[in-house]
Amino acid sequence: MKTDQPIMKKRKLSPRFSIIISFLIVFTPLAWFFSQQFFPIEGFATETSQSFDYVPLPDEMIKGLLDQPNLAEDATTKDTAAILKTSLLTIKELNQSKTEEKVLLATTTPVKEAELSPPEDFPTVSTKDWNLLLVGPDHKLTTEIDANQLTPIAPDELMDQRVAPVFEQLRGAAQEDGVELSVVSAYRSVEDQTAVFDEKFQRMKAQGMTDEEAKKVTMTGMTEPGYSEHHTGLSVDVVDNAWLASGPDWTLSEDYGETVGGKWLQAHAAEFGFVIRYPKDKTEITKITYEPWHLRYVGVDVANYMNAHQLCLEEFIDEVEKWESYGS
Ligand SMILES: [Zn+2]
Repeated sequence: MKTDQPIMKKRKLSPRFSIIISFLIVFTPLAWFFSQQFFPIEGFATETSQSFDYVPLPDEMIKGLLDQPNLAEDATTKDTAAILKTSLLTIKELNQSKTEEKVLLATTTPVKEAELSPPEDFPTVSTKDWNLLLVGPDHKLTTEIDANQLTPIAPDELMDQRVAPVFEQLRGAAQEDGVELSVVSAYRSVEDQTAVFDEKFQRMKAQGMTDEEAKKVTMTGMTEPGYSEHHTGLSVDVVDNAWLASGPDWTLSEDYGETVGGKWLQAHAAEFGFVIRYPKDKTEITKITYEPWHLRYVGVDVANYMNAHQLCLEEFIDEVEKWESYGS
């Protein structure tokens, strides 16, 4: 039968060499065991350090022991003792380095046990929850929302029917506080977004831009089709009538955040399960500029938690994923 195994040559061993080898085979594990007693790895709870308690005798060292030139047929007891002393010292060094590694681990992750469960106020949610659907520049929409799932919240403006009634409550509460909200844009299908995107893209190309330049310009201030949160039906752009009456250069402007209406949204949206989805200090994560008008429904518990801990949706979902991975 063919084999890839190298052919091993049989070699006769002298009785003396056999004795030394037998001695090593018995003594090396013993030496290893006693070294663990004399140079123990100290100061760590076994629960957090199980994987470090046992330092295996490296293959290199075993090979080194067996290949010792002194371990010849005429090796004396003195030679053998010298070899064993060397291996014991190597084991000691190895233990020392493992101990240092553990000290480093213990100082960089001081309370591993405490990190295994979420904070007490962490909402009971799953990354699969519909209200945590993540669509954005780094997260393309996978499935378009069923048209039957949508309901009007303003002329030509639709929203997920699970969220629309809550938005109406928010709008009512704002009105009671003297803020008359006006819907600018809610649900957008990928098809709608494509049409608007292409229209601007073609306009830029007509001005003499290359495809690449035109796309780049179009993408400033407009999300590429498939990457807009408006596809989810869980988002709505709102401003208020006082802002519109003030005649702003742009209806959707960062300045809206400084108005009475903008501040009202910031202060009260979470009571209804909405968040200001693109905060000023999270643009690096969301990849979207500050939008004080863009509300996103996430649910009351999640909105309160995100606000209390100053997290944007991407960060919150990262946390949910972390706890889910610990739980699995
Ligand atoms: Zn928006």
